[in-house]
Amino acid sequence: MKNHLKKPILGCIADDFTGASDLASFLVNSGLRTLQLNRIPVDSDLDLDGYDAIVVALKTRTVDAHTAVKKSLAALHWLQELGCRKFYFKYCSTFDSTPDGNIGPVIDALLDALKLQSTIICPALPVNGRTVYMGHLFVAGAPLNESPLKDHPLTPMQDSSVVRLIEAQGQGKAINIPYSCLEGDETSFKQAIFEAAQNYRYIVLDTLRTEHLERIGRNLEAFTLITGGSGLATNLTSEFSKYGWVADSSKRVMQQADGPTLILSGSCSAMTQRQVADYELKHPALYIDPFKLFNQTQTYAQILDWALQNKSAAPLIYTTSSKEVVSRVQSEIGFETSQALLEGTLAKLGHDCIKAGFKNIIVAGGETSGAIVKSLDIHAFEIGQSVSPGVPILHSITPPIINLALKSGNFGDQSFFQTALEKLTCP
Ligand code: ADP
Repeated sequence: MKNHLKKPILGCIADDFTGASDLASFLVNSGLRTLQLNRIPVDSDLDLDGYDAIVVALKTRTVDAHTAVKKSLAALHWLQELGCRKFYFKYCSTFDSTPDGNIGPVIDALLDALKLQSTIICPALPVNGRTVYMGHLFVAGAPLNESPLKDHPLTPMQDSSVVRLIEAQGQGKAINIPYSCLEGDETSFKQAIFEAAQNYRYIVLDTLRTEHLERIGRNLEAFTLITGGSGLATNLTSEFSKYGWVADSSKRVMQQADGPTLILSGSCSAMTQRQVADYELKHPALYIDPFKLFNQTQTYAQILDWALQNKSAAPLIYTTSSKEVVSRVQSEIGFETSQALLEGTLAKLGHDCIKAGFKNIIVAGGETSGAIVKSLDIHAFEIGQSVSPGVPILHSITPPIINLALKSGNFGDQSFFQTALEKLTCP
């Protein structure tokens, strides 16, 4: 690693790739120069000078808890060695996790490694309809366990109480700081957080509006580790600038990658289904039928060939299906086999299409994005402008030089793919 002129302050660990870029876009928007890495670099030539924040993207949301902890601790130790002084564990704004974790076990391991007593739990992202009220997580006004997330193929969410969820997964007790406290005066709010931190391991903060996130952001000094969704990054600069920590704004010139665009969708969220339907009205689109792919009546070679034939028309290839089809696929092909088959196919397509000259890839699906980025073998991205809140354009800074826009589940509006295409091709 080079001698650093300026060390990053904030070291972030995200449990999936789209979550990492979601966080990175909030950090960039709040004025922090941010680099996103999809693995801990072994590469001594990577230039890390001048960044305020480094985001390490892991793929630990749905792996077993032991592996998630091991990978998260390795990222923490690397960020500590780099000189980071504050740490952020980023998970989904809908608290996507299995009954065993991995949010709780990872938070516990990070707290123990940093020798800390407590941290805050703040998944909320009001701008995307994720709010926390009396400790319960809501998605566009519906309790989490009554929202479409109850049917998620990998992490079905069956409870809306963040207090219960984190206590079930972690080792300690949780307390909710209610919205009335967020609306009260600053001194009482500070006092409530201070007292909670003396007595509880997890502090679950109500958050109904962006102003609440701004207030929370102003009061995080006491926490060396903070945890939450990307919304928690809304106002971190206010803390950083107090100490003169924010880098000067001299920006690097980002390398542009001109060329064809490919859209890959593996998300089965309600919003992604609408986005696929909207895009295929005006663009070439190909559905990968999981059953046909499994029994080889639709082959990988046919799919790749179709992508290359439609290279100049920004083709969309998707496995996106209704929840009825997803459950049939999972019961007939098997959960793990179908996940590996579908993610693997989209990842290989991403890889082969970049080799064939595509320069931009738009992906829907958190796990799907992780698999695709892994197959591209790109390690570092500078974060550019946002396509929609939480979805930035990522410019690779190591070869191949390409642009990516990656969104998880329900992010973006109906015309997301069209908007992303325009922003990628006419920056
Ligand atoms: P999201 O961000 O919406 O959660 P992910 O990519 O994280 O999307 O997860 C979607 C999961 O569903 C992936 O593992 C993907 O392989 C799987 N999947 C995609 N299409 C289908 C399908 N038609 N049937 C079953 N599983 C599917």
